[in-house]
Amino acid sequence: MEMNHKRIDTRSAEAFAEAKQYLPGGVNSPVRAFKSVGLTPVYMERGAGPRVYDIDGNEYLDYIGSWGPLILGHAQPDVIEAVRSMAEKGTSFGAPTLIETEMAKLVVERVPSVEIVRMVNSGTEATMSALRLARGYTKRNKIVKFEGSYHGHADALLIKAGSGVATLGLPDSPGVPESVAVNTLTVPYNDLDSIRLVFEKYGEDIAAVIVEPIAGNMGVVPPLPGFLQGLRDVTTEYGAVLIFDEVMTGFRVHLNCAQGLYGVTPDLTCMGKVIGGGLPVGAYGGRKEIMEQIAPSGPIYQAGTLSGNPLAMAAGYTTLKLLGEPGVYEGLERKAARLEEGFLANAKEVGIASTINRVGSMVCPFFTEQRVINYDTAKTSDLSVFTRYFGNLLDLGISVAPSQFEGMFVSTAHTDEDIEKTIDMQREALKRL
Ligand code: PMP
Repeated sequence: MEMNHKRIDTRSAEAFAEAKQYLPGGVNSPVRAFKSVGLTPVYMERGAGPRVYDIDGNEYLDYIGSWGPLILGHAQPDVIEAVRSMAEKGTSFGAPTLIETEMAKLVVERVPSVEIVRMVNSGTEATMSALRLARGYTKRNKIVKFEGSYHGHADALLIKAGSGVATLGLPDSPGVPESVAVNTLTVPYNDLDSIRLVFEKYGEDIAAVIVEPIAGNMGVVPPLPGFLQGLRDVTTEYGAVLIFDEVMTGFRVHLNCAQGLYGVTPDLTCMGKVIGGGLPVGAYGGRKEIMEQIAPSGPIYQAGTLSGNPLAMAAGYTTLKLLGEPGVYEGLERKAARLEEGFLANAKEVGIASTINRVGSMVCPFFTEQRVINYDTAKTSDLSVFTRYFGNLLDLGISVAPSQFEGMFVSTAHTDEDIEKTIDMQREALKRL
């Protein structure tokens, strides 16, 4: 084992110093800057299967997977070939192509709530568009979201948000007008009593409840039994639209997404990450009656120059097809369950307070003894311990997201041997705390 491995990051440090002159904070998305963990961000050069290689020549077993999309690992050969052969025919037409319909058919077949689907370019676009649709459809203005959930960076959704907003400890973002913020009501995750109270007070004005069916942006927090069904019941009762934001969970936890796993069907579903196979894709879909309100079949406007982009569709379609092969999700479950088991044993052996939340291939160790069921309990994790843990893991060749409020993603490319090595390295990372 590479126990005394000392990581060199000279070239990454130089690259970051230069980037800071040209990009805000040196990056194109905040958490990549490693600000909250006080380290130099690692500049990646290439990836292969479960591994990534940085520009200083360090190798890592990767559990970021581009923050979720790479469920098949890096540079999966069939995905690369699909993109390459599509690119030879052209990169974008701004006209309909056959693969868009093939992709839509596959999504409709797999996602219980989806009868019609619109492709967009990111998770942010998907949630933003689904909200506009829900508001247009119900002719109501208010929406309900959960504390510590992240649904992308649209104004209405940057209220008490998770992910990078939580990582950087930012208050609600400046630049979001008060007139927008007043229409976003927030309640604690997994708390049906609060939801009921909000509906009793504002029910006639609530267009939608948007929820991550498994929260993945305050660390990983599974829904308590009955929570999703409770949301289904109350939204139906008040005529509000139930939106599942499955940008992270879609095709990650089950071939039929989290809604298939839990057997609760929303009105609208937002997707991203895995559905794009590593290229920029988002999607939203749902009941025909609602989706037909979108232009050009209806009056609610939403469009995109690159939406349904052939390269992105090729990567996404190939990824979804491969996920449909027998045993894929069983394999992910087995490997991730072993990781969880190993991490629990490590924490016990080293004597560190740890709670591990996991659903399928989403795994999240917290440094707390409390059960983590919402943002408040997630915040009981000792962040100073996380920071040191993160740095130790990196030195030991294990790449996880630089934030307590994100999970680890196991891919089909991780072998049993990779998982055992990760468990060994995690034990060492804990010992070095
Ligand atoms: N919703 C959820 C649940 C997410 O996890 C994310 C991104 N982490 C988004 C929306 C936003 O997606 P994107 O970053 O592609 O805009």
